[in-house]
Amino acid sequence: MGKIIAISNQKGGVGKTTTAINVATGLAYANRKVLLVDFDMQGNASQGLSALKGEGQPTVYSVLMEKFPIEKALIHIEESGVDILPANISLAGADLMMDKIGHGKERLLKEALDPLRDRYDYILIDCPPSLGLLNTNALTAADSVLIPVQCEYYALEGVTQLLITIRIVQQTSNPDLKIEGILMTMSDIRTRLSVEVSQEVRQTFGKLVYENSIPRNVKLSEAPSRGLSIFEYDKRSKGAEAYKELCEEIIQRNGGR
Ligand code: ADP
Ligand code: MG
Repeated sequence: MGKIIAISNQKGGVGKTTTAINVATGLAYANRKVLLVDFDMQGNASQGLSALKGEGQPTVYSVLMEKFPIEKALIHIEESGVDILPANISLAGADLMMDKIGHGKERLLKEALDPLRDRYDYILIDCPPSLGLLNTNALTAADSVLIPVQCEYYALEGVTQLLITIRIVQQTSNPDLKIEGILMTMSDIRTRLSVEVSQEVRQTFGKLVYENSIPRNVKLSEAPSRGLSIFEYDKRSKGAEAYKELCEEIIQRNGGR
């Protein structure tokens, strides 16, 4: 059974999508079967891997709200072998529509993904930057949460808020939800603030924090505009190295899965 990992932090711009794209691709290059679910109406993960095919394309919205068959909505990326369930602007307002469903509204994504579980080693969900019903759906579908934290001031506040949300989901729709790990992103060993924040997060969360952190690396910010993961865009970059090592750490934490 594939493991479902939600990549979540309600703060925008902390590296969720960059991590989703590059961990999905890195795991695929390590010969794992991977599905990446884009669950943000901005569709950045879909764009970043060239998975958007224009108007009328079936997306995660069609699957959840229009009963479109999920297999037919998947886009297969040839180079790495990653499958993507794309998202686009149609996901805007899905919160409100879902809310009207009433009972079971937080389980829509879980029900859509469960039949696919056997086909993958990892299913990653790139979450939106909010704590609404979409995020609750992701946390209900997930086995665990990977939390990217940007090495900057106020980093801890965002995490505390997310941990409260995780606890609420554990008490309601997903008692088995675990924390997969906390990932320090955009770190810069040359700046004191970055080093201090990193130390503070490690002191607070101990072993939950991945040993590998992701450095600030311009190649990581350029790759999406070419529709490529860092591994196709510049596999010798510091960013590619860091995500490759992170993938190894993730595999190790999961007993070789
Ligand atoms: P989120 O999905 O949390 O909003 P993104 O992954 O989209 O965050 O990252 C926000 C911005 O920062 C993007 O422009 C992205 O290219 C850039 N970025 C993310 N990680 C890095 C990094 N390690 N080094 C440099 N730029 C990065
Ligand atoms: Mg994003």
